[in-house]
Amino acid sequence: MLRMTPDVARAIAAHAEATYPDECVGLLLGRLADDHKLALAVHPAENRWEGQMQLAAGDDPTSRRDRFYLDPRDYLRAERAAGAQGIDVIGVYHSHPDDVAQPSERDRIGAQGAGGGPHFAFAIQSVRQGVAAELTSWLLLDNGARFVQEQVEEIADNR
Ligand SMILES: [Zn+2]
Repeated sequence: MLRMTPDVARAIAAHAEATYPDECVGLLLGRLADDHKLALAVHPAENRWEGQMQLAAGDDPTSRRDRFYLDPRDYLRAERAAGAQGIDVIGVYHSHPDDVAQPSERDRIGAQGAGGGPHFAFAIQSVRQGVAAELTSWLLLDNGARFVQEQVEEIADNR
């Protein structure tokens, strides 16, 4: 289960709306417990997709509307920001402009190198016509073979 404060939920939604119609990407900072994670802050990153992969014939390889690239240096910056607050990087989020909040095959392949362990959250914020919609979270299981959805819960206050 991924728990988050109202501030975190608002920050993800605002980031997804700000980058629309492109995808946004960022890291979730918080605490990892045995049975749940608690996201306490976000670390927005740049979507640095610049056509790193040829995906399909006829595809615009530079489009950021249905893909993202998280630079490892941004991940390190997020780790430092988390460390300064005494918390950890517990997941990553990105947006799906005008699409359902379900991971794509591209997301699965991109996530395989992400590490972070079996509890690492892959949150997806759907944004429709510029307005944030549903938010989901996923765990990557079986050595990156499949995503399984986990529950998302917004807690009542900003502890
Ligand atoms: Zn995606």
